[in-house]
Amino acid sequence: MISKQTKHYRNNKIYFKMYNIINKDRILDEHKEYYKNNKEKWKNQQKSKEVDRKAGKKYRVKQKILVINHYGGKCVCCGETNLVFLTIDHINNNGSTHRKEIGSNLARWIIKNQYPIGFQVLCWNCNLGKHLNNGICPHTFNEDWEYEL
Ligand SMILES: [Zn+2]
Ligand SMILES: [Zn+2]
Repeated sequence: MISKQTKHYRNNKIYFKMYNIINKDRILDEHKEYYKNNKEKWKNQQKSKEVDRKAGKKYRVKQKILVINHYGGKCVCCGETNLVFLTIDHINNNGSTHRKEIGSNLARWIIKNQYPIGFQVLCWNCNLGKHLNNGICPHTFNEDWEYEL
C-alpha cells in the first residue's frame, strides 16, 4: 500500500518532470539569467573588496608616515629617510613582547596612545643589526664587541 505522502510525491515527481520538459528552454534561460546576475553581483563584491583593501592599505601607510614623522622621520642610526626602509623600533628591545600584546599594527597603537616615549625610527638594516648585536647597531663600531657573524 502506498502512503498518501509517497503518492503525492510520485505525482509531483511526474508533474515536475513534465514541467521540466515543457519548460526546458525557459528554465535554461532562467538559470542563465540567474548565473549572469550572480556573476555581476560576485564581480561587484570582488570590486568593493578590492577597494576596501586598497583603502585599508592607504590608511595603514598614512598611519606609518604620521608615526615615523613624529619620531624624527629618519633612521636615528644611519639617517635613512626612505619610508620603505623605515620601521618603528622599541628603544628598550621589548618589541616582540609588546607586539604580541597589541597585535600587528604598532603605528595604530602608537597614535591611539598619543605617541608615547620609548620608540624611535630605525631602518630595517639598523633594526636587524641592533637585534643581532645585543641592542646596539654595528654601525656604531666598537672593537670590544663580539659580533655574531
Ligand atoms: Zn639605519
Ligand atoms: Zn645602524
